Amino acid sequence: MNAKTALDLAEEIGKREPEMIEMRRDFHRHAELSMQEHRTAEVIAERLSAAGLEVRTGICGTGVVGVLHGDQPGKTVMYRADIDALPILENKDRPYASINEEAMHACGHDGHTAISLTLADILSKRRSELPGTLVFLYQPAEETMSGAQPMIEAGVMENPHVDSVLGLHLINQFPTGQVVVRPGPGFAAADFLRIEVRGKGGHGAMPHLSVDPITVAAHIIVGMQDLISREVSALETAVLTMGQIHSGTKDNIIPETAHLQGTLRTFNNDVRVQLLERLGSYVSHIAGAYRAEASLRVAGGIDPVVNDGHVTGLVHKSAVSALGAQNVSEGKPLMGSDDMCYFLKERPGCYYQVGCALPDTKMMPHHHPGFDMDERALSVALRLSLRAVLDAARA
Ligand SMILES: [Zn+2]
Ligand SMILES: [Zn+2]
Repeated sequence: MNAKTALDLAEEIGKREPEMIEMRRDFHRHAELSMQEHRTAEVIAERLSAAGLEVRTGICGTGVVGVLHGDQPGKTVMYRADIDALPILENKDRPYASINEEAMHACGHDGHTAISLTLADILSKRRSELPGTLVFLYQPAEETMSGAQPMIEAGVMENPHVDSVLGLHLINQFPTGQVVVRPGPGFAAADFLRIEVRGKGGHGAMPHLSVDPITVAAHIIVGMQDLISREVSALETAVLTMGQIHSGTKDNIIPETAHLQGTLRTFNNDVRVQLLERLGSYVSHIAGAYRAEASLRVAGGIDPVVNDGHVTGLVHKSAVSALGAQNVSEGKPLMGSDDMCYFLKERPGCYYQVGCALPDTKMMPHHHPGFDMDERALSVALRLSLRAVLDAARA
């Protein structure tokens, strides 16, 4: 596209802002849980069809793909948006609060979807100048990390064969207008841990006749943190949180078992492997010291989100030209996880972050019932994404 077209597009983004915000609010009002995004998928499909894209629906349940063929030669670029909400009862102090008491868009995926649909519509009207092919992908179930992999297995990266993948996450921890474009790992690997401690039940008044699994569990919880501080290099990063502990039925009964659940977050695969190996033996040896038995099971995990150096370099240039160098940084990696990692394992790509903090107010974090965003960030994201997909398709 020539300079005049680029200017037209900049003007168009301004014109589109009110509709994009209204679209985000509509998705927000009708939040749907992972794999239940039926209305959301319907609205997406309707809008893509109206824009003249080739639309595939019902991919792995509620996944949608819209393909836009440009008339000019170029690469095939996938632009991924996640569409699901969280099982949170929203604080009802805003007019667009979720009417579904079981679900709330507390992570910004409503915004991701509205940005992507606006992008698809703008570019569909400029097909004659558009290089390459754009694949707009709407992924269910990011929050349960179970939507991306099945969509890949269903063939969404073929026919057309995708060359590179882009996507963004709105983040309300840094200011609107700022974006983070970071090569290498940007979101952490997550592993989900299950520990069972097996003791010997009995009367609470006579612990010497029992093996108390609750005491053992307490030592395991406290002791595990020593692995992070004593066995991981101070220059590496790891976080271990035990989020659940279940045991016992009554104040004077020593139970037979205790169950713990937690998560481990890392960036470096060597650290991840080291900790997972050590945690298993550490847990069983601590239990052994108390005459109990304990075992650790890893109930699933997800790799870090790793941005490709070359594609990220391109997006960085796109961001600087779209937003100005002063608004683009490499930021810091986030300890959260995202199943965007599966797309980025298949093809080179870049997952960038767009700040959406409201100025001068105390923003509630992602996944909080009071989460919100500065909706002006949608236009910032659109401006960057528009430039980035065109640059990637031309590359
Ligand atoms: Zn989330
Ligand atoms: Zn999210």
